[in-house]
Amino acid sequence: MRILIINCGSSSLKYQFIDMENEFLLAKGLVERIGMDGSVLCQNRSGEKYKIEIPILDHKEAISFVLKALLDEKHGVISDVSEIDAIGHRVVHGGEFYSQSVIVDDTVIQNIKECVKLAPLHNPANLIGIEVCKGLMPSTPMVAVFDTAFHQTMPEESYVYALPYELYTQHSIRKYGFHGTSHKHVSEKAAEMLNKNINDLKIITCHLGNGASITAIKEGKSIDTSMGFTPLEGIPMGTRSGSIDPAIITFMIRELNLSVAEIDDILNKKSGVYGISGISSDFRDIEAADEDENKRAHLALEIFYSKVKKYIGYYAAAMGGVDCIVYTAGLGENSPEVREKTCRDLEFLGVSIDKDKNKVRGQALEVSTVDSKVKVLVIPTNEELMIAKDTQELVMDFKLFKEELEDKIIV
Ligand code: AMP
Repeated sequence: MRILIINCGSSSLKYQFIDMENEFLLAKGLVERIGMDGSVLCQNRSGEKYKIEIPILDHKEAISFVLKALLDEKHGVISDVSEIDAIGHRVVHGGEFYSQSVIVDDTVIQNIKECVKLAPLHNPANLIGIEVCKGLMPSTPMVAVFDTAFHQTMPEESYVYALPYELYTQHSIRKYGFHGTSHKHVSEKAAEMLNKNINDLKIITCHLGNGASITAIKEGKSIDTSMGFTPLEGIPMGTRSGSIDPAIITFMIRELNLSVAEIDDILNKKSGVYGISGISSDFRDIEAADEDENKRAHLALEIFYSKVKKYIGYYAAAMGGVDCIVYTAGLGENSPEVREKTCRDLEFLGVSIDKDKNKVRGQALEVSTVDSKVKVLVIPTNEELMIAKDTQELVMDFKLFKEELEDKIIV
């Protein structure tokens, strides 16, 4: 089965086209600056790059150009759209509707619309992607894979905020959690690497990229996660503040006369390690500045390490122990420094990092010492492949179900 994975952002669209028989990435690409000057599509087919620089007015045009690039005689990988067997859409918010991926139908589209108020920047773009694909390829089955779904197993005591309970029941204000596809994938891989049943493990997964979240996974289920009602809660990130005293916001309104839009901008785009260091949101730049003894760069890193470490302790306590800590995403996979410093002084928990093994970048490897009670693993995340796997499984079940139904009707 050949599956097209679509990840629509507000002004960009990422895609991958995967042959599931051997999980081979046939092509991947990115459309940027949709609806703006300088829009461009870049496609990569086994290292060979193809670029279309042309005005791309909206997501409908963007998806038409994606199909054009995949069909291109010289640079493409298919000769007819019917060679796309199914489409998997990344959808950020499934609210309380979905605890797993689903085949897209009218009810699913309606429910994703209901969740727009919870993810106003992301869900509208995800919906456009679904509706445009439905229009262009009406007979191709589609699956929605939600960032929030994996965390729907959290118990009430993890997801209800200490606010008036009506804010939850009447306005859906609760913790949802994000990066679910990644946390699920790396926790399953961790159990495989340790040759253990996931039901016997207490795992802490640290997805540390530009956006970052940490999840406590007990018996294969998310029981708590650091992101919350939105992807702003939790540890400080590239440009996001993470958790702060909520009274800072009312102070900014009252004393600094800042508007809602300005505060949103500060918390989402001007904070995190970028805000503290004043240098960059990219840890490579901050680590380099720290080596040059830049004080604010050093402070940004120390704050980040300490917050990650606190979540590790917090979740070890919440689960009554921890068997394994997993590092994934850009930073988790590539920064030995971050892994070492966030496990620093955790020997009392039974965590011991092997400095040599920990030099690894971008590869699955156990980086703890042989006698470390808690195993520390680096596992590259692959959200697109997880989306493709869910899509394949659901579409195969759906086809089987349809065939059985047709047989019954004939009988
Ligand atoms: P992601 O959002 O998962 O793509 O992660 C992107 C972030 O990973 C970048 O902003 C960097 O901060 C970080 N990163 C990527 N490669 C490295 C590296 N070699 N060393 C340190 N940080 C890295």
